[in-house]
Amino acid sequence: MVEILCPHCEGEIELDDDASGEFECPLCDGEFEWNVEEDEKLRITKEAHQNMIDAVTQTDNRIIPSHGFNKMHPVAKVAVGAAVGYNVVVTIITLIFVIFLVFLLLIYLLFGPVMNGSFFA
Ligand SMILES: [Zn+2]
Repeated sequence: MVEILCPHCEGEIELDDDASGEFECPLCDGEFEWNVEEDEKLRITKEAHQNMIDAVTQTDNRIIPSHGFNKMHPVAKVAVGAAVGYNVVVTIITLIFVIFLVFLLLIYLLFGPVMNGSFFA
């Protein structure tokens, strides 16, 4: 249980720890909200997150024209930068991996028979 003060009559009211929503004060019958602020913050955060995703998705389709990018919201800029950076890193790693595999295959094809069929020996 948690004790709170009624915003209307400042009387002490006991609520469950996880209670949230609209309540009616048993002392003065005044209505008040409890624990709804967190939900509101979560909603705003989710909205901002969705806006970032939308901004990135739209920008990806246009391959980031620089004038549009400069007009964008700073948060969206960071999101686009992170997305582009991530794509570049993934592409480079994939390229290195593929080149490495081709290199291994070439070495194996060229020297495999010489090494008596065992690659690491
Ligand atoms: Zn009250």
